[in-house]
Amino acid sequence: MNSIELTNTYVTPTYNRIPIVFEKAEGYYIYDQDGKKYLDFTAGIGVNSLGYHHPDWVEATQKQLGQLQHISNLYYTEPSAQVAEKLCLHTGMQHVLFVNSGAESNEIAIKVARKYGHEQSPNKHKILTLSNSFHGRTVTTLSATGQDAFHKYFDPFTEGFEFIETNNIKDLHQKIDQTVCAIMIEIVQGEGGVVPLESDFIQEIAAVCKQKDILLIIDEVQTGIGRTGKLFAYEHYGLQPDIVTSAKGLGNGLPIGAAILGEKVKDVLEAGDHGSTFGGNPVVTAGANVVLETITPAFLEKVHENSLYLIEKLEGLEEVEKVTGLGLMIGITFKHTTAKEVLAKAKEEGVLFLTAKDKLRLLPPLIIDKAAIDEAVSCLDKVLKKEEAEVLK
Ligand SMILES: *Cc1c(COP(=O)(O)O)cnc(C)c1O
Repeated sequence: MNSIELTNTYVTPTYNRIPIVFEKAEGYYIYDQDGKKYLDFTAGIGVNSLGYHHPDWVEATQKQLGQLQHISNLYYTEPSAQVAEKLCLHTGMQHVLFVNSGAESNEIAIKVARKYGHEQSPNKHKILTLSNSFHGRTVTTLSATGQDAFHKYFDPFTEGFEFIETNNIKDLHQKIDQTVCAIMIEIVQGEGGVVPLESDFIQEIAAVCKQKDILLIIDEVQTGIGRTGKLFAYEHYGLQPDIVTSAKGLGNGLPIGAAILGEKVKDVLEAGDHGSTFGGNPVVTAGANVVLETITPAFLEKVHENSLYLIEKLEGLEEVEKVTGLGLMIGITFKHTTAKEVLAKAKEEGVLFLTAKDKLRLLPPLIIDKAAIDEAVSCLDKVLKKEEAEVLK
């Protein structure tokens, strides 16, 4: 059997996989087993921030692999210490706790918020999240996710979450009471369809949190690590969150999650309150150090410039209805065709895209340049013109 047959036979079918077997990659190009070349506008799902085979990242992870691949968190190692320092110095926050995924980093945020709330009053344990949000696949992070589609099959779910209607300030105020210990938001709802929150709504949440001693948790699992043109998307709004969660792009392809904790909550968790066998793994964090060293202010300026260039080009396409998003996290709807249709045809033409809800979703590696953008947009143009010709027939 080939890899597709083996997978379909022996791996639980929880994904709608596209039948391509990828073998190797370089920069923003990825090659399948037959040597067909694809331009990658997915970066995993916003994971391969520095693209493929980034020389500094490969060198750092390989070197660490040759020195020490793992030791328990009962001891110290250098790479995770350096990543923690970088994240704290950049955010002005105090402590970091490492895990291995986005969902796990949100689990920490939830545990910290609950313990912090309980220390103030026994009933202060409710966490408000937003409708249309996505926070992960564990039972508790599914409970925190504000989409009915995720609340099937696995009940009973974790109690203590309520959903504010996204961008509805009145609903925000109605949901606040003595039992609320935290509000958790994504600055741009990724899985929800690349929906940026409205600025007024974000500022109101921040103000309410400050007034009522409610923790502000920002889930930057998808928006973080330069994706939106700042290291973290909350920086666009001048916020001071209490907890920031990071994952995807921080690892550049190796599994990592991090919860960054501010002054109010830095010492809420004590020895024994949380743990992770692999959390802060030296090889993964040796790579994450390179990611954070590479994403300099000049690098972020490039991301911003490329984002403007890409959005302008996309908006110039006749068939494009609307472009949403921030930085290099972009959603597109079309006038006469569906994102699913466009994704399938673009793949045939050698460009990989994602979808999110009804949008075509673009999460290219952050190292893309104007040549890559031109290539992706001209592929879209070609696909859309073909579709139009078919509709007219
Ligand atoms: C992907 C994602 C998660 C879940 O991350 P995993 O690493 O798959 O557990 C959580 N929150 C947001 C906003 C995400 O985009």
